[in-house]
Amino acid sequence: MALEQTLSIIKPDGVRRNLVGKILSRFEENNLRIVATKMIHMTISEAEGFYAVHRERPFFSELTQFMSSGPVVVSILEGENAVSHHREIMGATNPAEAAEGTIRRDYAESLGENTVHGSDSLENAAVEIAYFFSQTERVNSAS
Ligand code: ADP
Ligand code: MG
Repeated sequence: MALEQTLSIIKPDGVRRNLVGKILSRFEENNLRIVATKMIHMTISEAEGFYAVHRERPFFSELTQFMSSGPVVVSILEGENAVSHHREIMGATNPAEAAEGTIRRDYAESLGENTVHGSDSLENAAVEIAYFFSQTERVNSAS
């Protein structure tokens, strides 16, 4: 087991439907610790920068417009195997395929508006954390 940090986002549909507390509680109840969190409203170019790996995909425009359509809550979560553990708690990308008890199964309304984002590798987690948080905004469980 390894202590890791991952980047978590409550997407605009989750914030709009007042689900911030419920979703953050799921992470805490599952042994992930919030070590930084804030609400931001991305511009379209900030959303395009965040999702740059998807720029050739047909849904890129829909995705970046959605992600800049309202405030989101970005958090750094820390815990044992946080990257894969967080993705398990989120559930599959398509809510119709997400396992019972996952956030996307319980809350997501469509494939595009699927309520949460989570880093997909430790390497991408480091890049995504640095995209949103400066060093002084970050704490860790030892501090
Ligand atoms: P995940 O968020 O589970 O890592 P991806 O990285 O594959 O999934 O895709 C990023 C986001 O793009 C998804 O969470 C979803 O919001 C959106 N998305 C993915 N595939 C589609 C699609 N076929 N149509 C519309 N939106 C999509
Ligand atoms: Mg992804």
